Amino acid sequence: MLLKSYRKEIFLPECNPRFQSLHCIAHLDQDIGEVIPYLNSELGGYQYTVDPPSVTFKHHGKLITIHPRAIAVNALNDENEADKILEWLKGQINDIWERRHEIQPKFEGMKKPNIVEIIKYLPKTNCKKCGLPTCMVFAVQLGEGGRRIEQCPELSPAQRAALEKYFEPFARYLE
Ligand code: SF4
Repeated sequence: MLLKSYRKEIFLPECNPRFQSLHCIAHLDQDIGEVIPYLNSELGGYQYTVDPPSVTFKHHGKLITIHPRAIAVNALNDENEADKILEWLKGQINDIWERRHEIQPKFEGMKKPNIVEIIKYLPKTNCKKCGLPTCMVFAVQLGEGGRRIEQCPELSPAQRAALEKYFEPFARYLE
């Protein structure tokens, strides 16, 4: 077992303590740096740092970052949710470590949607029917997961199908 124990710390985000969501840091009693490229491969990390190693991924709307000696989780409803996620992560870390010989480690983050590519598929009329001032703004928000394809009512069936195909490889990044 690679990760045996940790100490949990829960706090309100400093930027705005009135936010109801909690942040959590787990201080790890063991160094799990070696498993991080394997976690990146298996859990679909969208951001990866080589030195020092860290991986960030999304899980049910939470942003989770794993460092060799700490795990950060944001947007938690309560402490109970933090406990569930940390125990799930501990299980994942130990399971993936056990199976590491079957896994191809990954040392880079996930490819992200390209705004220039997205805009090519949009009507580019800046009609504002999506509630945004321009197609470019819509493209940026679509690329970040803040809008959905169907929120542009001006897309032709062919444009919509092409956009959906373009986004297929990014499903995990945008979830
Ligand atoms: S509704 Fe579509 S075409 Fe109109 S501004 Fe928004 S993205 Fe552009």
